[in-house]
Amino acid sequence: MPRFAKFQLSSNWGLSSDIEIASHALLSDAIARGASIIFTPTITLKDPLSSDPIYAYARFKLLSASPTGLVVLTRPLGSSFEEIENLLNRTKGDVVKVLSLAARSLSDAHEILNRFENLCDAIEVDVNLTCLLSTRGVSYSIELVRELVATSGKPLVLKLNASSLNLLDLGKITADSGANALVVTPNIVYKIGKHFFRLHSSYISPAVLMGLTEKLAEVDVDVAIVVQSWKENLLEIIPLRVFDVSYLLSWMTFRGGSRVNETPLSWRPINTRLKVYARKGAKYCPYGLIKEEGIIEGCNYCGVCLELNDPGLVELATFVSL
Ligand code: SF4
Repeated sequence: MPRFAKFQLSSNWGLSSDIEIASHALLSDAIARGASIIFTPTITLKDPLSSDPIYAYARFKLLSASPTGLVVLTRPLGSSFEEIENLLNRTKGDVVKVLSLAARSLSDAHEILNRFENLCDAIEVDVNLTCLLSTRGVSYSIELVRELVATSGKPLVLKLNASSLNLLDLGKITADSGANALVVTPNIVYKIGKHFFRLHSSYISPAVLMGLTEKLAEVDVDVAIVVQSWKENLLEIIPLRVFDVSYLLSWMTFRGGSRVNETPLSWRPINTRLKVYARKGAKYCPYGLIKEEGIIEGCNYCGVCLELNDPGLVELATFVSL
């Protein structure tokens, strides 16, 4: 079984921080099925879209589904501190827990660690999200990681996008940062205004991952690769695979069908005075909130049910008390 960031793992798979839905039910079921490492959704000190308390922003958008693949957008940095704290506190068992963060500055990173360091086994720094947040280059992120290595007692993990690897000297980056391990993801993050997106595509990912073998030979730290759950043949050659949001869809038994939606330039605001109303036959809530027809209480407006159910089964509605 693989080692990763100083830990001997009990299996060769886990869940990555590319799943931006903080569902304890998902994690605990994955651990029961044999996952040996779980990463939290990536957090930052303040959700870039959280300034107006009346509005919530979905974290999930289905762009296309067909028998040949899925394309999904998720919203990084959208989880609250309370959600991540709850997730880490409730996740038990023989599993390595990694807190994933991105930070504008070293003081932001320290503030996050002050809250979570005692709840996790290791810390992942998402380099590409840190570059977008700080509007500075990779060298700044590496400097930030080096400072965290010097001040934190936890193993540090660098997360990088696969498409940027050809532009980077990976051996130098890992040596300079002092990081203990590397996570490579094929899923691209980008930003439009204050809106952050992560693009998951089953059409792009296998091709991106195929070209990685030679590049990863440059590093002498442990490596995990973010993969999609249905590409089983390709996965056999990867020593440690951590699944992206496609695992969530498989777990919810979403079959895909055939759909195409427009790619948004921003996340649609949802007025939180509106309630999610589920009709008979509705499903696909990663938090297990949809059990029968009616108003959903305790909803965080992640948007999964609104995207995956057939039209009309789940709606946002206003309710007036008489
Ligand atoms: S009811 Fe829908 S929007 Fe609310 S948490 Fe569940 S899936 Fe997300």
